[in-house]
Formats: sequence, structure tokens, C-alpha cells
Amino acid sequence: MTSPSLAELPPLREALERHGLLARKSFGQHFLLDLNITRKIARLAEVGEGDTVIEVGPGPGGLTRALLETGAKVVAIEKDSRFLPLLGELADAADGRLTLVEGDALRADMATLAGGGPAHMVSNLPYNVGTQLLINWLTGPFRPLSMTLMFQKEVADRIAAQDGDDAYGRLAVLSQTVCSARVVMDLPARAFTPPPKVASAVARLVPLEPAPDKAMVSALERVTAAAFGQRRKMLRSSLKPIGGGALCEAAGIDPDARAETIPIEGFQALATALLKA
Ligand code: SAM
Repeated sequence: MTSPSLAELPPLREALERHGLLARKSFGQHFLLDLNITRKIARLAEVGEGDTVIEVGPGPGGLTRALLETGAKVVAIEKDSRFLPLLGELADAADGRLTLVEGDALRADMATLAGGGPAHMVSNLPYNVGTQLLINWLTGPFRPLSMTLMFQKEVADRIAAQDGDDAYGRLAVLSQTVCSARVVMDLPARAFTPPPKVASAVARLVPLEPAPDKAMVSALERVTAAAFGQRRKMLRSSLKPIGGGALCEAAGIDPDARAETIPIEGFQALATALLKA
């Protein structure tokens, strides 16, 4: 019997029922079963024929289907083995363009998943590990072409925040030192099955050229941990363990300012001064 083509596959809800699959909270499972939504995410990701895409957590494969429809090759890593038979049907319909990997994305090497070449990353991330995954990718050796990632809205806002915003903190400084970052889509909780407690949003991050120096990024993490760990204090006090007022002066930053008012370039200057200290 020949396999159905992508266009002939049954609706996702039907496929889930046929395989008797229910969402598991411990895996952060909230599914997108509306292909209009997953196709919109694939468009926002700007991927197409000839591209390689890494997807973390394909689950029932709604986003995977939309990515495959663009003509891209997809490498999908899923921790919950229950989904592999259903995803196997999608692979059969995809003419060899879908590679399935059973594993934990927190431990996986993205360069290996990408097959040694360039790749985009597009995912509806499990919320319980989404922030940790992003930090791993921002600080790790693999530089994707772009990342189009669904998070809880509060996390997406923290990634793209500007100085002075309530959401501005360590994640904004790290994300925007390594990438350009913006929120490109908001989604209400009811768009997911089962609905999570909070709204979601897609952040799009594109690595900046040239790549920031690794040592500067490590120093930046030390500076922002100290500065935002005590965000209501003046920098001369919150940064005391790593140089306080003298570090601020070396970086040309007002030591009486608070972390939330310092733009990203200010933190980069502090990190550079810390490396020279
Ligand atoms: N992409 C699907 C969608 O949009 O309907 C599912 C998204 S659901 C929010 C997150 C998915 O990530 C689930 O399929 C879950 O099993 C998987 N997952 C959770 N933790 C993971 C991990 N550490 N590594 C890989 N996949 C993981």
C-alpha cells in the first residue's frame, strides 16, 4: 500500500485519537492542532525549500507538517516515545525530508542534529524547559540561521524587552547580545490542546554578525546575575563582589544607576571592563 501524501494525511485530532494519545503535563505538552496556526508560524520562520530546520518537541506533528509543506527538511527531536509511531506516518508522507530523533533536547548537540550544516530552529517549546533550552543555544557553540520559538508570553516578552520595561532583565541582555530579537505573534491559551494557564507568544531571534566574543558573553552573565540579582540597588552596591563602583567607572557607567535603566550596550561595556580587570 502506498503512503498518503502530506496533503492526504488525516486531521491531527483524528490521528491523536487513533493512537490513543493524551497530553502529559510532565512533558509540558500543549498541542497546536489547527494547521492554519502552524502554517502561520512556518511563514514567520521564513523557511522553505532546501532549508534544514531543527524542531524540538514535534509531539503530534502539527508544526512539523507545516514546516514540511514549505519544502524544508526537518530534523525533529522528541522525548516522549509515545509520539514516534504517529510521527513515523508523517515521515512516510514526507519523501525522506523528515528525520526523527528520540531524545532529550537539553542534552542533544544541535550541530549534530543539523548534520554539520546550517539550520534554522523552529519549535513550540515545552514550557517547563523553554528558557533553559534558549539559554543553552545562546551560549552554546552552534549558531543557527534563525530561531522562531513559542514560549509563554511572559518569557517571550523578557527576551525582547528594552531597558526601562518591566520585563527587562538577564534574558533580554543575553538574547539581544547574541541575536536580534522580537515578538512576532501572540496566541491565546485557547489555541492549544489542552490549554495552558497563560497566553503564549512566538519570539524570533536572528544571530548577530559578527558573533560576540565567548569570553565577553560569559563575563556578561556574571555582570547581569549580580546586577539583576539585586535590581533595586545601585550598581555600585549590587556589583560590589565583582568590582562595584570602580568597574562602573572603567566601563563609563553611572555607579548610582540601577540595572533596569542600563541599556544592553552598557552591560556589554561592564562585561568588557570585567574581562580587563
Ligand atoms: N510541537 C507540538 C505542537 O506544537 O503541537 C508539541 C508542542 S508541546 C508544547 C512540547 C513538546 O516537546 C511535547 O511533544 C513534549 O513531549 C516535547 N518535549 C518535552 N520536553 C522535551 C525535551 N527535553 N526534549 C525534547 N522534546 C521534549
